[in-house]
Amino acid sequence: MLRPHTAMERYHLADLYSKLTADLGAGRLAAAHEGLCGALGFDFPAPPSSEAVSSAAARLAGILSYRGFKPAELAQMAAGVREVVKCEDIPVESASRFVARFQSHYRIVVGPPYVKDYLRLRSMPAQPDDPAAPRLVSIYLSRNDAGRRLLALENARRDDVAGAGALLGFPPCCIEAFARAAATSRVDQDTVNDDACRDLLRSVAPGGAGHPALNPLADAELLGFYPCRLDCLRAVERARPAAGALAAVESGVRIAAIQRQLERPVLYFRLPFFAAIDGLWEPGGLRVAAVLVNGFPDPTARQAQALFAATLHAWLAPGDVLHVEGADLVRVRSRRSERWPARSADAAPVLVRWQPWPERFFDPGAEFRQPTP
Ligand SMILES: [Zn+2]
Repeated sequence: MLRPHTAMERYHLADLYSKLTADLGAGRLAAAHEGLCGALGFDFPAPPSSEAVSSAAARLAGILSYRGFKPAELAQMAAGVREVVKCEDIPVESASRFVARFQSHYRIVVGPPYVKDYLRLRSMPAQPDDPAAPRLVSIYLSRNDAGRRLLALENARRDDVAGAGALLGFPPCCIEAFARAAATSRVDQDTVNDDACRDLLRSVAPGGAGHPALNPLADAELLGFYPCRLDCLRAVERARPAAGALAAVESGVRIAAIQRQLERPVLYFRLPFFAAIDGLWEPGGLRVAAVLVNGFPDPTARQAQALFAATLHAWLAPGDVLHVEGADLVRVRSRRSERWPARSADAAPVLVRWQPWPERFFDPGAEFRQPTP
């Protein structure tokens, strides 16, 4: 029996998620719903039906996958605007194909295989007797020795976030912020990603707007690291050559899709449970047109994300106006305002608004230069 959850579930995520997964597998939706609310620290009214979960599963959106190459990483290497790029979470088969194809272009170093728990977003070294989980690797791409040096540094000092960030050319302010999040979450490794992401999303919300080039919640992301704030100018400067490099290699249609992906408002509960929302900002909040709940390729996480999606679809519908006040989500439907409190301020959902894209941010003619750190 798990302890009653009074705040956002921390420290017990492994137990919580294994029970949630078992409940979902056995079709115990009421219990699974309770587990999900515990993980989110947010009490949605009632469990969805199994039909609603199936229908939500079919509608999950592939926004952020933590699997495979990201377009901005490859474009930057092709354009020569980065000394070294680290591509994480690459399935070993894709990695082999990539190495065969590009070994004459780049110096390629491949890290040791690992598996990922996609609910907790933790990576563990791959074990020989664990055939079910797909094996992933990191690929270090460079035109010189930088990839090998980065892997050597990571092997020697696993916790040296600052050293690795400096080698990758991240801005010092952003390295410092991530190192701080990593240090505070060392007591609870389950939340390292979640804490860093939540702190970042809260850096401008509520009321402010983030720069869409710094949106971390999409495979289309330009940065490849968490900036210190969603309006960090040094991080924006770092994203600009990535946008230019993408514009040089991708079609206009594809660039428009990337821009659209990165500028959608985000409703975030905790990783991996969030939605991108099509809608319009009004004085009272975000008027919802469509709710796109993210789904991973990983089947276990995806099943839980489908439950979350069905739960959210039952609660938030096109036409609703949404905003956050303190730790409360406020939903206005047919002029009736209802307030839904999170279990604690710590667990309050975050609703992120993005600034409009600056003119010519994706400019293939922009001079590709290495930003000064
Ligand atoms: Zn910064």
